[in-house]
Amino acid sequence: MDFIHESVALGVDLLILGLCVREYAKCKNNAKQLRAAPQYNIDSDLKSLVARQRDKKIPYAVIRGTVTPMGVPLRSSFVPSVSGVLQIVKLHEHRVMRAFAGFWAEQRKLIHESANEMPFELRNQEHGVEIVDAMTAAVLDVDIVYDNYEATSLSFFDHVFGFFTGVRQKGLQTTEQVLRDGSFLTAIGELEMDGQTLRMQPSKLGPLYLTTATKSTLIKRFEDAKSSMLFKIVVCSSISMVLVGLIMRKLYRKKKQEREEAKIRKRLESERRERRARNRPHTLSQDQLCVVCSTNPKEIILLPCGHVCLCEDCAQKIEVTCPVCRCKIESKAAAFIA
Ligand SMILES: [Zn+2]
Ligand SMILES: [Zn+2]
Repeated sequence: MDFIHESVALGVDLLILGLCVREYAKCKNNAKQLRAAPQYNIDSDLKSLVARQRDKKIPYAVIRGTVTPMGVPLRSSFVPSVSGVLQIVKLHEHRVMRAFAGFWAEQRKLIHESANEMPFELRNQEHGVEIVDAMTAAVLDVDIVYDNYEATSLSFFDHVFGFFTGVRQKGLQTTEQVLRDGSFLTAIGELEMDGQTLRMQPSKLGPLYLTTATKSTLIKRFEDAKSSMLFKIVVCSSISMVLVGLIMRKLYRKKKQEREEAKIRKRLESERRERRARNRPHTLSQDQLCVVCSTNPKEIILLPCGHVCLCEDCAQKIEVTCPVCRCKIESKAAAFIA
């Protein structure tokens, strides 16, 4: 195909466009759900308010409070003075890899992750709401309390090995993130009354958020993301349109060229026929004429039967069986009768 490059580029572009549209729809929906979510103070009235709702649930609500562990808080593994309710330790490997076309590109790969969590609630004075499944939160603002990078010292053997495998380790990075107790958070999710305790958990309407940002800041973030996605969509669709235009133009040119070639072939063919007709002897007896058209002389021998019964024009149309003996035609050749 002449436009294979354009087709591949169009495919990739449409894929990116699809992803952008999906992301745009997600941001739009998130912003809409957030805007519609009511905000409540954690106080003595909240329990009775939730208890009055259908199924004792508010599908999507915003609350703000201080992170308070329900029990003994977790201690940070690397910084003992820090305590919190969620702890995530990640080990990343930094390496250079021989990428496309032989270039070496830097890469960061997660090789180990461990997480610890404990029950906690958001409190406002003596009232609290327990947070369930905090780890699944779409936005989880945790503090990085430890970040250490150790460069790997490579031996001569490692260099040689790396040259052949195309992967060379550069170093290891350990990070620890902690959701500290006492931090002031905004939580958005489904608010449910379970027995005598209030709980906030992931909702069907939107993801769970545990963030230091306020509701309006969060909405603004989604609006900004939405705008930037819209820009990407416009760029991607423009590129798609240009590519479709290029492919159409190539297709049109190809068709046009084919049409012109066919026209030239046809003209040459008819000219050749005319020339042959002019050069033919005009006084031919009936048995010297083609059995099909009775106009042109017999010019073609059919094999294997060996009948010389057709002119060149008719031989082009008759392909299966000999018109004289009905024998299957395997090949044809010009016959020269001297
Ligand atoms: Zn004929
Ligand atoms: Zn025959």
